Amino acid sequence: MTQAIFLDRDGVLNRRAPDGQYVRSWAEFEFLPGALEAVRRLTRPGGPSLIIVTNQRGIARGVMSQAAVDDIHERMGAAVAAAGGVIAGIHVCPHEKEACECRKPGIGMFLAAQRADPALDLAASTVVGDSLADLEAGNRLGARTYLVADDDGATASAARELGLTVDGVAASLLALVSAGCFDDSATIGVPR
Ligand SMILES: [Mg+2]
Ligand SMILES: [Zn+2]
Repeated sequence: MTQAIFLDRDGVLNRRAPDGQYVRSWAEFEFLPGALEAVRRLTRPGGPSLIIVTNQRGIARGVMSQAAVDDIHERMGAAVAAAGGVIAGIHVCPHEKEACECRKPGIGMFLAAQRADPALDLAASTVVGDSLADLEAGNRLGARTYLVADDDGATASAARELGLTVDGVAASLLALVSAGCFDDSATIGVPR
């Protein structure tokens, strides 16, 4: 079996656009402080694959094109590679709310990742995100969940009020890495 670390994109790797807005082009894409270092440190031989799962409803709304999102991801992957990291896969939900099985908190993108790697053990994997939808999807998988939030605990409290399990919270992906949140994950399950 293999494991993955599923990373939400906006708010985890790059600065999230204001509510109701979208990152429409590479010019609008800005890595968060420490994100590239975090991805480099999470990229370990024999360790979990890093897979991005991102809701991009702006495509359905006509705010940006699929091609623009693909271009962002190509450049993002190149920037990650230049920093010494590897993104193993990127899954995008381009749909409107309640129109598909893949938009988080749905788990369709995670199931797609498993179709690409049938040995992937979703329940032994980890989901990192900045929203309740990320945590809910992670809980549905039975995965470990980490929240990136810099809001004095507001999102974490909201999650707990909804009965969601949150296994750790930090202000950035790098802070989670530095706190050792992923240190054991390479040893869970059978090595590749
Ligand atoms: Mg997000
Ligand atoms: Zn979808």
